[in-house]
Amino acid sequence: MGERKAWATLGLLGMVALGATLAVAARPGRGDDAADAAMAVIRPEGIRAGMRFLADDLLEGRGTGTRGYEIAAKYMASEFEGIGLQPAGENGTYFQTVPFRQGHVDEAKTSVTLVRGGKEEKLVFRENYIAFPNPGRAVSDVEAPVVFVGDGVTAPELSYDDYKGINAKGKIVALVFAAPNFESSLKAHYTSYAVKTANAVAHGAVGLILLDEPVSEKIYPFQEMARDLAFPHLRWLDKQGRPNDYWPELKGNAVLNLEATKKLFEESGHPAEEVFAAIKAGKPTSFDLGVTARIHNETKLEDVQSPNIVAKLEGSEPALKNEYVVYSAHLDHLGIGVPENGDNIYNGALDNASGAAILLELARAFHGMKPAPRRSILFVAVAGEEEGLLGSDYFAHYPTVEKEAMAANLNMDEDLMLWPLEDVVPFGAEHSTLQGVIEGAAKRMHLGLSPDPFPQEVVFIRSDQYSFVKQGVPAVFPVPGFTSSNPEIKPIEIFKNWEATRYHHPGDDMNQPGLLFEEAAKYARFMLLCGYLVANEAQRPSWNKGDFFGERYGRK
Ligand SMILES: [Zn+2]
Repeated sequence: MGERKAWATLGLLGMVALGATLAVAARPGRGDDAADAAMAVIRPEGIRAGMRFLADDLLEGRGTGTRGYEIAAKYMASEFEGIGLQPAGENGTYFQTVPFRQGHVDEAKTSVTLVRGGKEEKLVFRENYIAFPNPGRAVSDVEAPVVFVGDGVTAPELSYDDYKGINAKGKIVALVFAAPNFESSLKAHYTSYAVKTANAVAHGAVGLILLDEPVSEKIYPFQEMARDLAFPHLRWLDKQGRPNDYWPELKGNAVLNLEATKKLFEESGHPAEEVFAAIKAGKPTSFDLGVTARIHNETKLEDVQSPNIVAKLEGSEPALKNEYVVYSAHLDHLGIGVPENGDNIYNGALDNASGAAILLELARAFHGMKPAPRRSILFVAVAGEEEGLLGSDYFAHYPTVEKEAMAANLNMDEDLMLWPLEDVVPFGAEHSTLQGVIEGAAKRMHLGLSPDPFPQEVVFIRSDQYSFVKQGVPAVFPVPGFTSSNPEIKPIEIFKNWEATRYHHPGDDMNQPGLLFEEAAKYARFMLLCGYLVANEAQRPSWNKGDFFGERYGRK
């Protein structure tokens, strides 16, 4: 999964949600020979072998734009070819080239100065602030008064506006990572950095300062953000060479740490604790900070490219085979970064060699199906997920099949094969008729379905399904749930420990303990069944009536 952009700890909310797990009646499903035979094709050994190759040190963490990623891409294409799937990338190949712009902050030349009542304070990079690379300009400057706009969210449909009563025109806006306490996937949507940035620009802002606060500091500590500057930041480039999610109106950015944030609030006469409490309570909060910021950003820019890999299985029903069920899994990981215990390769075995390896097992299983599913199936391994869902966003903008033909997206990322699979959390399913499909598949496999246990982690916007959602394609991201009928096995604890020690660390490799490939195979069979059901239904999936995402992005 990608960056942790905003959030809170698991806490009580998550536990309460878990308690509400919906147990699906364990009843044998109706027989379906084709699906049963295909599910039997999926082997734990196949998943393990795929992961072992992709997570090997030789591939150096599969960073987007690197040779290691290129090798991984060649591997996926050659496997698809060997399985017998048709190429569905560009020019009769399995590849879709994605042009990227890569940026590293030039720390020595970047500066942030705060001016209050004629007194100047120069901040120190990595000590009390960092800055993100600017994908559009190597050098940019801004000097303007700073206004605090809370979460920086404007959501008229939910009668919420952080900008109410504040004039941000020509100002630098300061905001926190959080979002108001809306329903899980809406909250996730509104924590998105792109959504906040676009909103700031719409209100006339000329610069943006992100402020740390206690909740987000726990989830994505400032020190880790600083560490992650070792990895390049990327944007994809459109046909005119413009970076995605880039607003030239914003001429400066900075991220302040918790201490600097507290000081900023105190000096403007607003006790930090009060502001943090208001944010936590989800109350719109904004005020003039009474300070001017002078920001100078410098970025080392380079253009690179990496491919998405696309393969196709043609459907068996003439009237439906021009519609596609799109499976996605990101192939990239972080690459080479700051060493830990002498290891600087971020292998990304679970994140997401697991999903890519499962994608291959699904391809193998679907290819052997007699008859083939009625709709066509597209298998897409994408680049640049870790830098902001970039490869999938590019694919969803410029699909190699008709855009309208994408009937649904089923995404796989970070299969936590660390405990026996008893239930599934289907992120995003509740927005469309995919909910019914998921219920059917779960029932048939005697798996439970559970609600989002960690709304604060905004998982719905943190993997590639969100790119498809934004292009109007109903999508779902099913992940293993956290239910355990064995009191000795505590999935939440296993997960928390994994997140703290291995998630986005060099230790997410094939030597980590506890990988249960049989459970991964079970998850893969569930994913197969979901796609199979979507492919064979008479009606393609549709957004629920009046759904937030359907109204905003769906086909009209
Ligand atoms: Zn990740």
